[in-house]
Amino acid sequence: MKNVLDLAGIGIGPFNLSLAAVSEKNVSLTTRFFDAKPGFQWHSEIMFSDSDMQTAFLKDLVTGVDPTSPYTFLNYLVQNGLFHSFMNTNRQVITRKEFELYCQWVAGQMPEKLLFGFKVDTVEYDGKVFVIGNKKQRFSAKNICLGTGIRPKIPCCAKPFISSSFFHAKSRFLKELNARDKNVVIVGGGQTGIEVFRNALKNKWGCAKSITLISSRPNLEPLDESAFVNEYFSPNYAHEFFTVNKYLKKNIVNYQKLTSDGNTPTYLQALYNELYYAQNVESLPAKFKIFPYRRLESVRCSGGFYELSLHNGFTQRGEQINADIVILCTGFENNIPICIDRIKHLFQFDGNNGFSINQDFSVQWDGHVNNRIFVQNFSRYEHGIFEPQTSLMSWRSAVITNSVSREEVYRTQNSAPNFLSYARAPTT
Ligand SMILES: Cc1cc2nc3c(=O)[nH]c(=O)nc-3n(C[C@H](O)[C@H](O)[C@H](O)COP(=O)(O)OP(=O)(O)OC[C@H]3O[C@@H](n4cnc5c(N)ncnc54)[C@H](O)[C@@H]3O)c2cc1C
Repeated sequence: MKNVLDLAGIGIGPFNLSLAAVSEKNVSLTTRFFDAKPGFQWHSEIMFSDSDMQTAFLKDLVTGVDPTSPYTFLNYLVQNGLFHSFMNTNRQVITRKEFELYCQWVAGQMPEKLLFGFKVDTVEYDGKVFVIGNKKQRFSAKNICLGTGIRPKIPCCAKPFISSSFFHAKSRFLKELNARDKNVVIVGGGQTGIEVFRNALKNKWGCAKSITLISSRPNLEPLDESAFVNEYFSPNYAHEFFTVNKYLKKNIVNYQKLTSDGNTPTYLQALYNELYYAQNVESLPAKFKIFPYRRLESVRCSGGFYELSLHNGFTQRGEQINADIVILCTGFENNIPICIDRIKHLFQFDGNNGFSINQDFSVQWDGHVNNRIFVQNFSRYEHGIFEPQTSLMSWRSAVITNSVSREEVYRTQNSAPNFLSYARAPTT
């Protein structure tokens, strides 16, 4: 191995794992990826047995750019003797647990490239190379790629109350929860919110006294995955979107929210049917409630329980609800990792607290042109709605690999035209 890596990846979630797998095709590139965790794990705090992927299994780490790669999901099935059995499941989407198993299998195929149990504490730059490391070890690299993920988003009014009885779902407190005889309130009606709600109804954390779901959305909104809308998750659309005036991008992406952050329609149907059965067939005393259009405004803690003040957007009135346990399913937000603090002053920012990012996913910065910082999952409002998702991850990995190698290892602009055309002017 060369002393100076061509590319060092910080974080090994699905996105940098995809980059590691895709970049293998260019054998002249030396790459290494680092993760603080002892092995590959995927949002394990909120992994339920009924959690399915929201993206088709062919949108795996590599297939979109190289179906002949040894790291395809299909090869995972074949190598593990699962192919025939899997075909009988008739699934287009797999469980999140199986996606994690697949990623763990891929990670196990390239141990020399991936270093787990290595938290990157600092990234320094001396004008020629980056030095990434911690107290124990340091590595030099010409280029780096940040794939450090997003962090739980906690409403301001909730921050002072974070504890084992008031927490974001993506935290260790969920695993340790005892909800027996408690009034549980789940805040957030996105996919995580309804998964926590459904699992609470199944007594996963003990038999609660009451389970209430509140959501600021007007309903439990479904994921829009219809054909034309799915063109947002295509290289052609990504290309067109990048050219949009940057002041218009945020509104466009927010309008497209439900194409990425909506609830899986089959999951909603299953949940509805279970509620129907419990209420109208078994005639169980109702212990669940769903309150849409409610925004959490403030919290008070008194007498051992929480008083949640809500704004009802339907009646335009204030409401109150009491809870022993509050589980926030309030989404995620970008997280600039502190390990880059020493080089952050060299970055250009977009005025919205995000990095200014080039089309090849490198950051605009004041370092040497031979040294670049690539970022994954930082660019929803720059590159588009596909960016925090797995749909185009193999394609993005190919774009980054091409850019690091400065050659077209992969063809990334060869998709057939989309049916919806945004930036091209009509010529008839
Ligand atoms: C519950 C959930 C379900 C999702 N389901 C889907 C889905 O079905 N389909 C879809 O397309 N998208 C889905 N997403 C969105 C997206 O695919 C995931 O968030 C995905 O995990 C993003 O991958 P990532 O590699 O950016 O980050 P992460 O998976 O968060 O991984 C980041 C890694 O970086 C490591 N790290 C951070 N800082 C350091 C450091 N300083 N040193 C070393 N390591 C570090 C962390 O340990 C972590 O392992 C889901 C998201 C969530 C939260």
